[in-house]
Amino acid sequence: MLAFDTIREIAEWIWSRPWPKPYICYATTNGTLVHGDIKEWFRKNSKRFVLGLSLDGTKAQHDANRSDSYDKIDFAFFRDTWPFQGVKATVSPASIHDFADGVKHIVELGFKYSINLAYGMQWSEDLLPVYREELQKVAEFYLENPDLEPPSLFAHIVSRIGADSRRADKQKKRKWCGTGTAMSCLAPDGKTYPCQAFMPSSGMEGGSGIASKIDFADDVNFRDPHCIDCICDSACPSCYGNNYLRTGTLFSRDKSLCKFRRVEAVAASWLYGMMLQDPEKYPTIAKMKPSEKLAVARGVKLIQETLADEVEAY
Ligand code: SF4
Ligand code: SF4
Repeated sequence: MLAFDTIREIAEWIWSRPWPKPYICYATTNGTLVHGDIKEWFRKNSKRFVLGLSLDGTKAQHDANRSDSYDKIDFAFFRDTWPFQGVKATVSPASIHDFADGVKHIVELGFKYSINLAYGMQWSEDLLPVYREELQKVAEFYLENPDLEPPSLFAHIVSRIGADSRRADKQKKRKWCGTGTAMSCLAPDGKTYPCQAFMPSSGMEGGSGIASKIDFADDVNFRDPHCIDCICDSACPSCYGNNYLRTGTLFSRDKSLCKFRRVEAVAASWLYGMMLQDPEKYPTIAKMKPSEKLAVARGVKLIQETLADEVEAY
């Protein structure tokens, strides 16, 4: 939003002429500058330009992560203008102790959301019991509120691991994201990159040269040998650009988060296991196709049998 005049100029130029392919205009913002004329322009163009808000939980959590900026956000504007658009919540070591309160606060404000642990931070194993307890509180919150749909943090883990258990080889070879295949990124320097992570502005020097030597369509190039026997493989996020910046290889995930991923998997399997016991009460389960329910049930069983005791000991 610091470059709002440029954003407006580009957007109005896009809208002034026909294009051969569909497109969307979207930006993520911390919301602090979306007021006055900027807000009015977005309100007027809300059908053709979507803003996604970053919101990290309660005021205390958000202020700890984002320089005391909670009070500078017009939450009602974001919620009412783009009700289908979820907020993006990032959890840091400073905000993890109130993780569950943060989730409830976002839900109470009326937002859908996606939430994840911050990348590139030092995650001490001392925080594992904290994370386990906070995730359990969130799982209980969703059990008590059957009409709420659990966030992707829970939903994807169980179904992916369940599906993976049936077709392990194929699934494990799949790339986590569409960098260089479904995605490409045209940068201000006129070059095309596999995605924004390979651009100079993300800290990668010579990203287009590096990318030209990689076959992005061959998923084997993105397979981490360390992860092949881990049941979390198909549900464990990987940013190949960040991996490259950190380690010089595309595939090498950040292993400092391994135990945190396992804690997430066990919490998710507990929640879905409980919901599966009363499927008609939970629309999330009731609306699943039988094959999806089966994948979830397999995921629950596998995670509980493989990881529950280990995670309990953290
Ligand atoms: S939890 Fe660790 S070992 Fe398992 S897939 Fe993720 S990074 Fe690999
Ligand atoms: S490599 Fe990272 S930034 Fe690029 S598309 Fe994949 S997850 Fe996103």
